[in-house]
Amino acid sequence: MSAMLLFGHDGLRQAITLVFEAGGADAPTARAVAAMLVEANLSGHDSHGIQMVTYYVDCLANGGLDPKARPELVLDGGAVLKIDGHRGFGAVAGALAMEKGIERAREHGVALVALANSHHLGRIGHWAEVCLEAGLISLHFVNVIGHNPMVAPWGGRQSRLGTNPFCAGIPGTNNHAPFVLDFATSRIAFGKVGVAHDKGEALPEGTMVAADGLATRDPATMIPDTRGGALLAMGEHKGGGLAMLCELLGGALTGGGVSKPENHVDDTTLNGMLSILINPDALGGFAGMASEIDAVTEWVRSSATAQGHETIMLAGEPERAAKRLRLEQGIPLAKPAWEAFVAAGERLGVASQTLEQAAA
Ligand code: NAD
Repeated sequence: MSAMLLFGHDGLRQAITLVFEAGGADAPTARAVAAMLVEANLSGHDSHGIQMVTYYVDCLANGGLDPKARPELVLDGGAVLKIDGHRGFGAVAGALAMEKGIERAREHGVALVALANSHHLGRIGHWAEVCLEAGLISLHFVNVIGHNPMVAPWGGRQSRLGTNPFCAGIPGTNNHAPFVLDFATSRIAFGKVGVAHDKGEALPEGTMVAADGLATRDPATMIPDTRGGALLAMGEHKGGGLAMLCELLGGALTGGGVSKPENHVDDTTLNGMLSILINPDALGGFAGMASEIDAVTEWVRSSATAQGHETIMLAGEPERAAKRLRLEQGIPLAKPAWEAFVAAGERLGVASQTLEQAAA
């Protein structure tokens, strides 16, 4: 087990902002990237937080991420929108996609937003939460290209797809918090392999196979060379099908491109995301839906717990609980993860003392 360090969220945001400003982003862009990453740490998803900075800096160095690119609205069909991220930061492309989608869903009741060629969009639940703040339901189907695939299809043992996340957000009521379902369609997100590697921990049983097809719990199987093994799809044939659906909607329909050998060569991460935003008021007002949400939530929670479970949680709860705790107590980081962040900053000319002071 590696030593753990504890940081405040403001300090981490400032330190990350300094790194991306040094990497060529303007100040608002660097701040937006830092905010998206630290929000993932606060939500308990360290795989998508500050730990991503080293990787983003690699992508800046190899041209797979353009720090100056601005997302562009390339098709405006009213309720149907298409945005090209031009390989710029996902924090900026995702924000434009949600801003436009929210505007159009308010106007038309529903909006379909196809976002292509965005660099990494981070924790997709973040985008559902942006829609929830506007009172909207949202569904997001995401694919991943730009690097070697990491996930074997159901029934296979060789990587063919990305970790293709699916996400949905349903507004809360006066009595219950929002439902935010957000997961990679692989059994674990690839970033969690990195987090386990940093902490010196084994992976959960049944998440990965080595190149020979045998099960392994060693994160070093896919780090640093992802071709050493494959993550398995979640939920057997059903999860494998959902992963493929994310590919078809997030990659093929958006025009961003699907997982195929010629889209694996750039050593970057490009997300395609098809988002559907729904204004519940458009179907006759949220009040009726709210009472049904309350009824089913209470009914579901009334089940006796199964062996090994203390409570019945609904999607979104673990992230809110992590956020409450981390806002109060700080964000824990494994020492190697902090050292890797500092080294990434130094590569861009930011002194380690500057980062340590910013984060203190
Ligand atoms: P995960 O396995 O931690 O599952 C998270 C989901 O399950 C959340 O909705 C959470 O609220 C819910 N959940 C967790 N425990 C629960 C419980 N006990 N009861 C009820 N619900 C529970 O997530 P993951 O698959 O490791 O994905 C982590 C993150 O990685 C996600 O935010 C995802 O969007 C992100 N991701 C991004 C990309 C990308 O390319 N941008 C790719 C893959 C994953």
